[in-house]
Amino acid sequence: MLGDKLNRNIVPIFIACLFLWVLFIGVGQALAVEGTETLFAGCSGTSVAQLQNSLNLNGYYCGPADGKFGPRTSQAVLALQKENHCTVDGIVGPQTRQALATYQPRKLFAGLSGPDVARLQQTLNERGYDCGTVDGKFGPRTYQAVLAFQRKNGCQADGIVGPEMRKALARYSQSTVPSRGNGDLPTRYVRVLDMKATAYCPCNKCNYPYSGQPSAIGLPLQKGIVAVDPDVIKLGTRIYVEGYGEAIAADTGNAIKGNRIDVCFSTHQEALNWGIRTVKVYILPD
Ligand SMILES: [Zn+2]
Repeated sequence: MLGDKLNRNIVPIFIACLFLWVLFIGVGQALAVEGTETLFAGCSGTSVAQLQNSLNLNGYYCGPADGKFGPRTSQAVLALQKENHCTVDGIVGPQTRQALATYQPRKLFAGLSGPDVARLQQTLNERGYDCGTVDGKFGPRTYQAVLAFQRKNGCQADGIVGPEMRKALARYSQSTVPSRGNGDLPTRYVRVLDMKATAYCPCNKCNYPYSGQPSAIGLPLQKGIVAVDPDVIKLGTRIYVEGYGEAIAADTGNAIKGNRIDVCFSTHQEALNWGIRTVKVYILPD
């Protein structure tokens, strides 16, 4: 019968295909594990996340390791290539992988300067630890920002950026903190409140007569600190403020009663820019 003949032929072909398929998958996985895949803008997946994590750990900050090779990852790759004498094309091939594997970030401390300091300043600024202008010079403001980051993230507060702090910075990148608000609303929350939000900063004008003192629960005044009425939002609660981002209810104020909140910025100008807004405040789960 024709059918029998077909079956006899199909089975070995099928087995051969299966074998080739298994071989192919096996090689594909070996490539991913060995990290020899060529990656470039637009790629996505675990191997991109691994690359991002490695970039973050080496001080080439590219934001959350979300597995999407976007503009930030490109920027980090370009910087790595430029500083390590690779072909500067934004494509991660064997040469760039080799550079990343052998790169040894130096310890950063007050007095040093260079592109690595600039990258540190940029990433600290983005996370609300104000270094001032990104000038690549590790001055007093950068020192203060490093200290603040170290204190808040359980590192030894010595003002030196070594392996421990680099790890903490990379860990911070991995967590998906809704950064600048706008669009990136939290998907899990306990309740939402409509509130009137003003802004302040650590300056004398904003804090008279309590200038120089930390927040009501002892945290340094910086971006991410919000003053609330403790009868409405319990102090210590994590919240998400529309247009501002994730924050902690850590402070109080004379005028902050009822559905009023006061969001802290690092600079007075940012506080002025905020003005007064009506915002949705999401109470996040513990
Ligand atoms: Zn101020």
